[in-house]
Amino acid sequence: MDLHVIVEILLTYFPDQSIKIWSKTRILNTAIKKIVDNQKYNRDVWGRSSFIHTSFCEMCEKKNPKIKMLIYPADDKGSARIISHCDNWMCNVSAIHSMIDHYKNDNIYLLKKPFQKSTNVIIPRSNGSENEGYCKNNCVVKRKNKWYIFTHWYEDEFKFTKLIPLEHYTEKSPEIMFE
Ligand SMILES: [Zn+2]
Repeated sequence: MDLHVIVEILLTYFPDQSIKIWSKTRILNTAIKKIVDNQKYNRDVWGRSSFIHTSFCEMCEKKNPKIKMLIYPADDKGSARIISHCDNWMCNVSAIHSMIDHYKNDNIYLLKKPFQKSTNVIIPRSNGSENEGYCKNNCVVKRKNKWYIFTHWYEDEFKFTKLIPLEHYTEKSPEIMFE
């Protein structure tokens, strides 16, 4: 049987149309993975921080009273971004692709695993001193072909943010989830 037909049957007629059948189908073999990865996903939606849809899927643009929400931090202000989507694999995976493209547009890359376990770091300051602060340990940002991590700290109730070269904390190259 043609592989496209197998994929079509699994992804269209399998009773559970959630992301589970998508991930199971995708790992059957390399050729099938390619077919699954080349489905027409919607990658163009950026997460919102306000005016969140609670009964409308932003992927297929249809009403859905049982909406799921993909929530992710997208900028250094720390505010969450939300994409509303249906529970089916197409809308779910589209939401994930949209999130990844949003990150890429901001030159942010998700790591396969955190570069360190803790989000506590020592932050070097431009005056030569150091202080304790926090970092995002699950992503890096690319600036002029160099990797940086997001850090922040508090001083007199103000929040300060700074990008620190990843090499300050580890000699290892980052393992990026999606190139
Ligand atoms: Zn949908």
